[in-house]
Amino acid sequence: MNSFLKQFEQQLYNGFSKSNIPSGMREILLHPKNEIIFNFPVRLSNNQLKVFKGYRIQHNNILGPYKGGLRFHKNVDLNEVKALASLMSIKCALQDIPFGGAKGGIQINPNDYSNIDLEIITRGYTRAINKYIGPHYDIPAPDVGTNSQIMDWIMDEYNQINNVESKAIITGKSVECGGSLGRKEATGRGIGVIMNEIIDKNENLIKLEGFGNVGYHLVEYLNNLNENTDKIFSINTISDHTGHYKIDYFSFDKSKIINFTKFLLDYQEKNKSLKDIEKYSFNLIKIDKDEYLKTYSDIFVPAALELSILEEEAKILNCNKIIEGSNGPISYEAELILKSRNIEVIPDILCNSGGVVVSYFEWVQNNTNEIWTKEIVNEKLDNKMKECYYKIKGKLKDNNWRDECYNYSIEKMYKVYFSRSSYLFNKI
Ligand code: NAD
Repeated sequence: MNSFLKQFEQQLYNGFSKSNIPSGMREILLHPKNEIIFNFPVRLSNNQLKVFKGYRIQHNNILGPYKGGLRFHKNVDLNEVKALASLMSIKCALQDIPFGGAKGGIQINPNDYSNIDLEIITRGYTRAINKYIGPHYDIPAPDVGTNSQIMDWIMDEYNQINNVESKAIITGKSVECGGSLGRKEATGRGIGVIMNEIIDKNENLIKLEGFGNVGYHLVEYLNNLNENTDKIFSINTISDHTGHYKIDYFSFDKSKIINFTKFLLDYQEKNKSLKDIEKYSFNLIKIDKDEYLKTYSDIFVPAALELSILEEEAKILNCNKIIEGSNGPISYEAELILKSRNIEVIPDILCNSGGVVVSYFEWVQNNTNEIWTKEIVNEKLDNKMKECYYKIKGKLKDNNWRDECYNYSIEKMYKVYFSRSSYLFNKI
C-alpha cells in the first residue's frame, strides 16, 4: 500500500481513532468536493499544437476558500493531486487559517520547455480553470515545478479574461506583482523555526533530502541561527536529484561550518542543483544512497517529493528525529518501522505549513491593499509556527504528533459542519 492517497486515508483513519466524531465526517474528508480534470490545447512557439492534461482538486471549503499549490511535474496524476489537496485542508485547519484545501497541476517536466512555452502552457491552464477559481473561492499558489513568475502569468491571464484587477486571485506572486515579502522563504523558515523549538542540544548534524525552494531556505535560516545563537546546525549529508553527498565536518568549528554552509547555498544559487559540487570542495564527497541513509545525523529533513522513505529506507535510516519538509515523504508501513525504532516524526502538515501561512498573509495584504515589511511577515510567521507547535505539544500522547495534528484539524472542521449543516449530523 505505497500509494500517496492510501497513505493519506490511513493517516485520516488514525486521526479519527482518537475522537468520537461521527464516521460521516470521515466520509466527507475521504471524498474531495470537486475533481476537475481537463485537456487543454495550446500552440507552442514552434507552431506545434499540443494538448496537456490539467487538474484542480478542490478537497474541502468548510473553513474558507479552497487554497493550494500548482505542481508542474512529469508524475502528476489524479491520485497525487487528490492526496495533496486533502493534506491542504488538514494543514489549513491545523494552522487556524480561514482556508480550505485544494491542489492542481499539469503532467509536464517544466525543464523540457522554454520560458516562452511555459507561459503559453500556463495561460492555457488558466483559461481552462478560470471558471473554477476566484479570490474568494479558490486561490492557487506555487508548488514543485512552479514559481512566482508562473503565478504572475496566472494572475495576468485571469484578470484579462474576467476584466478585473485582482491580486488576491493567487498567492506566491513576485513582490512587484503584489506578492508578500517573505513568501518565498516561508516554508523553509517555518521548518527551521520548528526545528529550533524542538532541539535543545547545541551541536546538531542534519541530513537533508532535496535542495529546492524548501531545502534552500531552511539551510539559509539554519545558518542564520549558526551566526546568531549558541546552537550549531551542520548539514552532514545532503541529496538532490543529481545524487547523494557527504560533508566531512570540522568538529563543530562554528566559523568553518558557517562558511561551508554559505558555499553550499552559493553553489545551489548559481547552478540550480548540486551536480559536480564534489569537484569544488575537499570537504564533500559523492556517496551512494545506502551510505547517505546509514550515516548518522541527529535530524533528517526530507524536502523533495512524496514517498521517498519506504520500508527499505526506514530500516536503515540513521537519525534521531524526522522533521518532514516535503508533503507525505514517509509511507504508512515505513512509519511503523520508524516508530518501532523510536525515531520521532514531526509531520508535514505542521512543519511545512509556513508556506500557506504566508500565502494567507499575502491574501490579507492584497484584500486590504496593505504592504507589510519583511520583519512583520517573519515575526507573524514565527509566532504562528510556534503557537501551532506548542498547541499540539500540549495535547501530545505517546509522542504521536501526526495523529494529534489530524485530530485537532478534524475536530475543528467537524464543529463547523455541525453548526452549519445540522441536517448532515442529525443535530435536529
Ligand atoms: P522544488 O522543486 O523547488 O525542489 C525539489 C527538490 O527535490 C530539488 O532540489 C530536487 O533536486 C530534489 N529532488 C527531486 N528528486 C529527488 C530525489 N529522488 N532525491 C533527492 N532529491 C530529489 O520543490 P519545493 O518547493 O522545495 O518542494 C519540496 C517539497 O515541499 C514538496 O513535497 C512540496 O509539495 C513541499 N512543499 C513546498 C512548499 C513551498 O512553499 N514550496 C510548501 C509546502 C510544502
